[in-house]
Amino acid sequence: MRILLIGPPGAGKGTQAVRIAAHLSIQHVSTGDLFREHIEQGTELGRNARSHLRAGLLVPDEVTIGVVEERLAHPDTGRGFLLDGFPRNRVQAEALDGILAGSKSRLDAVLGLEIPEAQVVSRIAGRRVCRRDREHIFHVDHRPPEAAGTCDVCGGELYQRDDDREATVRRRLEVYHSETAPVIDHYRVQGLVATISALGQVQEVLDRALAALGQGRMNASGTSGRRPL
Ligand code: AMP
Repeated sequence: MRILLIGPPGAGKGTQAVRIAAHLSIQHVSTGDLFREHIEQGTELGRNARSHLRAGLLVPDEVTIGVVEERLAHPDTGRGFLLDGFPRNRVQAEALDGILAGSKSRLDAVLGLEIPEAQVVSRIAGRRVCRRDREHIFHVDHRPPEAAGTCDVCGGELYQRDDDREATVRRRLEVYHSETAPVIDHYRVQGLVATISALGQVQEVLDRALAALGQGRMNASGTSGRRPL
């Protein structure tokens, strides 16, 4: 399966992306994670991306599209992929259409996570990520680690992402509304979009996501379903 996961910051995209990809045995590809890896490794691309991440702004399209094109060319995406954080605007969506057409493949679904704006800032401000494995994500209130500041999974140190501070979160939300929300419309006309509520426990949201993708049983409290055109 080839899936896109779209949602505002704080909707739990990263948390769900890892689980959905594992459930479907497909590769999780997060552009945010790819940029953070480049930044940590001190590559030229990382040096260029850093200021954009810090400011809560999008990395320029040509850089981002190049990173994704290279990543999707890797054989580990052959069984399918879940793209998390890309495309984030119409230019990127059109570029992805072109990349897929070039490899004679197409998307199976676009899953939109929805969350009331009031929830976003508190969710993000409390988020803590493991330094050893950024797929290990906690929240000081909603998913606290057993020992404060330490990852339950691997013992790594938990930290707050630079761009998870309040002013940056507000900027990221503005960017989401102006640039990324229209991407959902781009795919809605192709009949690919299903939207679900991102509220509730991690497992509840996962059940909804899998049900919306036709891969699991609908949870009694779920609200998922493909939207009609
Ligand atoms: P995320 O981890 O998805 O929240 O992404 C963190 C940051 O990485 C974003 O705020 C952007 O600065 C950058 N980023 C991630 N994906 C993209 C993208 N598709 N286009 C441009 N910038 C991106």
